[in-house]
Amino acid sequence: MTTGYVYDPIFLEHDLRGHPENQQRLRQILSVLERHCMLERLAHVQAIPITQERLERVHEPQYIEQVQRVAQRGGGHLDMDTYVRPASYDAALMAAGGLVEATRAVLDGELDNAFALVRPPGHHALRVRGMGFCLFNNVALAARYALAEHGLDRVLIVDFDVHHGNGTQDEFEDDPAVMYISTHQYPYYPGTGHWNEAGRGDGKGSIINVPLGGGVGDEGFARILQEIIVPAAWRFQPELILVSAGYDAHWDDPLAYMQLSIGGYAAIAQALRDLAEELCDGRLVFTLEGGYHLEALAYSVLNTFGVLLDGEAWKLSDPLGPSPRQERSVTEIIERVRQTHGLTHG
Ligand SMILES: [Zn+2]
Repeated sequence: MTTGYVYDPIFLEHDLRGHPENQQRLRQILSVLERHCMLERLAHVQAIPITQERLERVHEPQYIEQVQRVAQRGGGHLDMDTYVRPASYDAALMAAGGLVEATRAVLDGELDNAFALVRPPGHHALRVRGMGFCLFNNVALAARYALAEHGLDRVLIVDFDVHHGNGTQDEFEDDPAVMYISTHQYPYYPGTGHWNEAGRGDGKGSIINVPLGGGVGDEGFARILQEIIVPAAWRFQPELILVSAGYDAHWDDPLAYMQLSIGGYAAIAQALRDLAEELCDGRLVFTLEGGYHLEALAYSVLNTFGVLLDGEAWKLSDPLGPSPRQERSVTEIIERVRQTHGLTHG
């Protein structure tokens, strides 16, 4: 297998001391990947800034100019959570462009799969507004690129960040070409992602929300994969799978209350890898969203790369172990979502 990774030092320049979404996240990931001799097994994908034309498929020109202006003036905040530093505009262009480039390389057959280690993250960013630490919606931009420039008809986005990707849902809720499936803590930031938000108009049924109470862990996520995500993906028949990979559902993450372990994240990666092989020639591209416990984040990314490269043969490396708490049951929400989306038969 040839697995690619995107990284550029400009991602470190988008940084605010004391903010959970800071440069230490990527530094820690790189350090663990290096220590475990993972980088030398991967193909480096050179990021290039996203073009204006591609960026405007998802964001309005006046919003793009606003981000640029705030950065040029020395930085500021788009909302209470979302900071802009002098380098943030260029970093955000590079993050989106890096994911687009990884997607291009996978679609052109240069890579089997890839993981874009980019910052700032993207899944909360709306057409006209950044929010939730996100400036431009990287995964939405990559999906639009694949549809517009590679002639794809169906792209699946799976989002397992602990927060609902409201920006991604907003972009595609009336578009049948993109299926968006999100697991997230609910009710929680940003407030969207109820199971009855299922798309509208031509896109009805192509948004699948799996809102979860706190306390869902490895067993619950394994069931959600097999009982919701796999059958929905088989019905949709994607030509590419993009993944909004957030690691803030780890049991020790400071921002949320879920109970996934590093092993649970590896199992998710394995299930998505299997799905991509069965449905779309293995075409699978991860992009980094959240994850704020540095060790949990870095080791989850390490194991995800291991699974992308080696599949079942990868040997798990987990210094934190399983959650010490008991898991919450997902039976009720699985039934609710399966009924909403007609997944109850077959
Ligand atoms: Zn998150």
